[in-house]
Amino acid sequence: MKKIAVLTSGGDSPGMNAAVRAAVRRAVYLGVHMYGVYHGYNGLIAGDIREMTLGSVGDIIHRGGTILYTARSEEFRTEAGQQKAAEQLRQNGIEGLIVIGGDGSFRGAQKLTKIGIPTIGVPGTIDNDIPCTDFTIGFDTALNTIVEAIDKIRDTATSHERTYIIEVMGRDAGDLALWAGLAAGAESIIIPEEEQDMDDIIERLHAGHRRGKKHSIIIVAEGVGSATSYAETIKERTGWETRVTVLGHIQRGGSPTAFDRMLASRMGAAAVDLLLEGKKDRMVGIQNNQIVDIDFDEALAQKHKLDTSIYQLARTLSI
Ligand code: ATP
Repeated sequence: MKKIAVLTSGGDSPGMNAAVRAAVRRAVYLGVHMYGVYHGYNGLIAGDIREMTLGSVGDIIHRGGTILYTARSEEFRTEAGQQKAAEQLRQNGIEGLIVIGGDGSFRGAQKLTKIGIPTIGVPGTIDNDIPCTDFTIGFDTALNTIVEAIDKIRDTATSHERTYIIEVMGRDAGDLALWAGLAAGAESIIIPEEEQDMDDIIERLHAGHRRGKKHSIIIVAEGVGSATSYAETIKERTGWETRVTVLGHIQRGGSPTAFDRMLASRMGAAAVDLLLEGKKDRMVGIQNNQIVDIDFDEALAQKHKLDTSIYQLARTLSI
């Protein structure tokens, strides 16, 4: 391969830029021309493709978001859209594509492989919800953002002796809520993967109160329902003042942590190596700190598994 391209797709995540930088620099180092596709699959269909140089990825390793922009593309879900996208790559002489994004973006990449464009996926999403990889790019940064926010909320929760319910991102995966809950010492963690027992949540609040705790923090993953309705139920059953904070999009942004930059650099470079080795239809992952690659079909057939031992540990430590 002499020409390859990279795009970012789906929700942005901190560290995507570091992955783009690594892919571009690795390709140039190996004597391959690298192209950036702007605005995800929409830009691919429109032919928004530009050659990238060593300099075009300078000064981005520390920046959140994605310099390539990202999009959700309805047109790319259609066969006609996919054909147009493949044709744009062919016209530019581009022989392989790296897709940085979530599982939806990988399903799109698979479609391109099927019509003759070799693709490699790099997992970039704050949710950590992609199977076959211990971590996704952006998860660690979002986790640290959440923990920092909870630490601040804890100060006011203690001062006012209140119960705070904090809603964090995670539609189907509770990793952010779970890890943040353990790292920030939450009393209860409510996630889609574990059945919730309201009696248990109330009892844990009372137990803390009996031993003189001044505040309580409960973390709710957005996928299980609204923090406000949990707050109302808790207020009804305890009579205590409750407050709700929905952290929202601050969880997506910010400068990536060193961990995410490392992960992104390793994964971005590995994606180039895989394409040049003639591999396709695969995603890059990290397992036990080793970079691995897994067939898209195999990975996407599985469901991301949350580490339930962390949930049990959090329960034990928050008595
Ligand atoms: P995140 O989980 O962070 O939101 P994602 O990559 O899962 O990221 P999606 O919106 O699911 O985000 O997918 C991004 C884009 O990938 C879609 O807008 C669409 O263009 C393309 N895509 C998703 N699923 C398919 C599919 N089955 N076939 C073709 N294209 C798809």
